[in-house]
Amino acid sequence: AAKARGRSCFAQFEPWMEEKERERAALEADLRTAIQEGQFALHFQPLIKIENGRIAGFEALVRWEHPRFGVVMPGEFIPIAEDTGLIIPLGEWIMRNAIKQAAGWRDGQRVAINLSPIQLRSARLLPMLINSIAETGMDPSRIELEITENVLMQDSEVNIATLHKIRDLGVRISLDDFGTGYSSLNYLRSFPFDKIKIDKCFVNDLERREDCQAIIRAVTSLAGTLGIDTVAEGIEREEQLNWLQGAGVTEVQGFYISYPFNVEELSDGRPFEGKRDDDWRRGTRRLT
Ligand code: C2E
Ligand code: MG
Ligand code: MG
Ligand code: MG
Repeated sequence: AAKARGRSCFAQFEPWMEEKERERAALEADLRTAIQEGQFALHFQPLIKIENGRIAGFEALVRWEHPRFGVVMPGEFIPIAEDTGLIIPLGEWIMRNAIKQAAGWRDGQRVAINLSPIQLRSARLLPMLINSIAETGMDPSRIELEITENVLMQDSEVNIATLHKIRDLGVRISLDDFGTGYSSLNYLRSFPFDKIKIDKCFVNDLERREDCQAIIRAVTSLAGTLGIDTVAEGIEREEQLNWLQGAGVTEVQGFYISYPFNVEELSDGRPFEGKRDDDWRRGTRRLT
């Protein structure tokens, strides 16, 4: 829960959690209809190359446009979708739509798509990915699939075999939220990741926390040696961005640069100016 709020690496019980339980039951009942009726939207958040400020790619982040509750965030419904198995049809919708949209981006930016561990274990994933690439004519090296460490903890042999099959298509694999799980350096040996995303909990208090600074430096240095790109997530302030300029990260992502937004047309590769006002944050403003 603490992680969902992007504040700290440590979770703790708080009174609002009980209310969350009631909300969850209500959402669970509506989720199946939502998938049938297509109540979901993809928002995209830029990943910026630190060396030149240009957009390297966009991360697809799903939102549920609930008819009564308004916009529901993925932290609320992805766990429910996973528990009910609905993550399979939902994940398929996300993957197909993210690739379809990205295939039309003029400047060939990458698209990063979050993959649930349950999707990775599904026999439908690989054929669907292959089909989606073929249908859109998408360059597979423009697709990045983001997985988290738990994929490497549970059923690791099967999962790693699947990851290799995905990589053989030319698709890139990123390790998301690095540092929040049981981050074993062994994971970096178990699969040749293309990218590591350093979790925002290390970026959050960056200016005041020397331990976070040391961890970020160590991860970027290690990743650099292994030929792995690094992203720092959750940049909310200029001071964090300034510090990160010298820290060896390849890319940065965060509200300070841009909120995720609903987009059909993208910029032409000029230095990105950012979309940071509250309308963007709420996703109520559209480009098209
Ligand atoms: P994630 O993959 O680590 O995505 C980054 C999350 O951090 C997003 O939250 C993003 O809006 C948020 N974020 C970006 N910059 C900042 C910042 O500067 N400060 C703070 N505090 N937060 C920032 P979002 O969209 O609510 O997604 C939360 C999580 O839900 C994602 O974490 C991911 O694990 C999951 N998720 C989102 N979309 C999908 C999806 O399409 N499929 C699956 N399986 N999971 C998804
Ligand atoms: Mg992600
Ligand atoms: Mg992340
Ligand atoms: Mg996360």
